[in-house]
Amino acid sequence: AVRPYIVGNWKMHGTRSMLSEARAIDRAAERLIKVEVALAPPFTLIHATRKEAGLIGVGAQDCHAAEGGAHTGDISAAMLKDAGAGFVIVGHSERRADHGETDADVKAKAESALAVGLSVIVCVGETEEQRDAGKAESVVARQLKGSLPTADGAAEKVTVAYEPVWAIGTGRTPTTDDVSAMHRAIRKVLKDFYGEEAGAKVRILYGGSVKAENAAELLGADDVGGALVGGASLTAESFLGIIAVAA
Ligand code: 13P
Repeated sequence: AVRPYIVGNWKMHGTRSMLSEARAIDRAAERLIKVEVALAPPFTLIHATRKEAGLIGVGAQDCHAAEGGAHTGDISAAMLKDAGAGFVIVGHSERRADHGETDADVKAKAESALAVGLSVIVCVGETEEQRDAGKAESVVARQLKGSLPTADGAAEKVTVAYEPVWAIGTGRTPTTDDVSAMHRAIRKVLKDFYGEEAGAKVRILYGGSVKAENAAELLGADDVGGALVGGASLTAESFLGIIAVAA
């Protein structure tokens, strides 16, 4: 059986005082061999988190698509790798909304990450308006086709995170049936895109208001390979609660 992959996205939260949470998560994860655990702290904490937490995965929340150059304030994939990151999240809806990132931008970022050997978590998800209009699956399929990297061997380094925008930070979650339907639809796109065999192996995470109380239900939906967790990953106590359910 494939181990569930539980990733904490700290978003714009965390100063060095929060490293104790990462340490506590790391210590507990050691005993939980049934679950693969990772954290994506802000850029400023990647190096320290890698040093403090030696067992869990550590990654970033974004990268620039270019290798380097005159891009004030931006961070390249190579810099992330140098800081100790093993993966990067690209295309989070907050980046798509706050920074106007298009599918093409997300794809370029993913390709740049793969080029330096990082894994990528490609995020997709519909807005409430799109779901109400019956377009959730077509929107997500379009995002996937435009955002997924195509470099040789890309499928082995890619994880997809389905995060309905309306479920992020709201306490609202889709029904298990809706999660199952979407994850099946994503699987179909992945197989069409990467081929039957490679597309079957890509992990698909659910994200949006995941907490210990709803984790069993969400992780139990069809083809859910883990969770991308925001708010509930900020303390070891709440994050470990989810990890315990996944184990
Ligand atoms: P919440 O778990 O806070 O809803 O955030 C989900 C998310 O956006 C993770 O990337």
